[in-house]
Amino acid sequence: MTTVAPVPTRLASCGGECGAALHREHHDRLLTVDTDPDVLLGLMELAVTWHELDYSAEPVVGPRQWLTFADRHQWMFPDRAAWAFALAVDIVGRRVVGAPPSELDRRVVLDLVRG
Ligand SMILES: [Zn+2]
Repeated sequence: MTTVAPVPTRLASCGGECGAALHREHHDRLLTVDTDPDVLLGLMELAVTWHELDYSAEPVVGPRQWLTFADRHQWMFPDRAAWAFALAVDIVGRRVVGAPPSELDRRVVLDLVRG
């Protein structure tokens, strides 16, 4: 007897109750971040460029919603989806927290090094 493994299907679709459906096209694309490498790369690109480009007029689900977005949807690969959104948030956060020192700070550091 041969058995065929069932192909996983998305357990549920979102009717907008997640709060991120304002930008429906991007929202729906993000729902495949766990299965579509292009969508995953798009999320990473968005994260990397979040502080460099002006997305204020773009219809995208932004970083403030990513972790909630990951929690409020069902995924074929939940660990992968959580990892993708957490990594994207981390990338955006590093730009804020890990900003290089200002010119004043560099001068102070150089003075300290020179003694
Ligand atoms: Zn949703």
